[in-house]
Amino acid sequence: MNSIYNYKLEDLEEYLLNINEKKFTARQIYDWLYIKKVNDFDLMSNIKKELRIKLKQDFDTSFISIKKVQRSSLTNKYLFKLLDDNYIEAVLMRHDYGISICVSSQVGCNMGCAFCESGRLKKVRDLETYEIVEQILLISDDINERIDSVVIMGIGEPFDNYDNIMNFIRIINSPYGINIGARHITVSTCGLIPKIDKFSEENLQVNLAVSLHAPNNEIRNKIMNVNKAYNINELIECLKRYIEKTNRRVTIEYVMLNSVNDRLEHARELANLLKGMNVYVNLIPYNETSNFIYKKSDNISAFYDTLKKCGINVTVRKEFGANIDAACGQLRAKEVKK
Ligand code: SF4
Repeated sequence: MNSIYNYKLEDLEEYLLNINEKKFTARQIYDWLYIKKVNDFDLMSNIKKELRIKLKQDFDTSFISIKKVQRSSLTNKYLFKLLDDNYIEAVLMRHDYGISICVSSQVGCNMGCAFCESGRLKKVRDLETYEIVEQILLISDDINERIDSVVIMGIGEPFDNYDNIMNFIRIINSPYGINIGARHITVSTCGLIPKIDKFSEENLQVNLAVSLHAPNNEIRNKIMNVNKAYNINELIECLKRYIEKTNRRVTIEYVMLNSVNDRLEHARELANLLKGMNVYVNLIPYNETSNFIYKKSDNISAFYDTLKKCGINVTVRKEFGANIDAACGQLRAKEVKK
């Protein structure tokens, strides 16, 4: 579908120049779409009538829709229905430092992480750019507040939908549109090495988070299929290249699974692996669901202390939404089962 929300500002400028219109009009269109939140070309009063007719012929402005919202004090969880009746999710979180949204990048996921509700249902398709942009627009409309940061960490592996994710980042980062600063955008990958290398060439100030979840190949092979294609040693080498090239700190995501990867010897092994690297580790308390055998770790604070003592920067992710279906993918899984 040729949605107007697939278009970066430069793409819209190019389109306008190709039809002998002024490049500047792209900024006006962006202002209507992203600042005034108007998606009806007929209402774009500072754009001449002939061009509005042409825009209507050339672009679609349809929206995905909110099917369900679960609200709690710090978290809203959204289930979206796509135009082809597929479902995805996004989550809003209220932090001390502002409002962040976690968006989905695919319908389902093929990476098959053993503890992940989102990956239990295989990938149906990649999301188009507009379907990711509209998650942000609909949520900011729903709460009528500004979104401060965006993480691409919902359903799907973003780097398995690389081009649309890069488009999405550039659209929400545009100062003429939603204007979310690059440093407030984080893309999270399970470790697709060729794409991390490619990402290091993008010249974006966007944050990279990598789901490591294990200190060695033996454990990682058991819980993350991707490790069989790109093992932990290759991944660490890739991250060293990335840090050297971009001079940016990488976040290491580490979900704490009881008696699987959370013992103190694992903390020491992890510290050894990451020694000297510009990273910080984010320990994630596991959201248990009835579909998996994994349990939430009872050893998080000792694991944290051990990493700290070894000189590793570490935080524990705040738990959100224990009273709602907090594990990413749960809402969609329930809807798909119906
Ligand atoms: S953790 Fe991420 S990459 Fe792994 S299966 Fe779930 S959605 Fe996919």
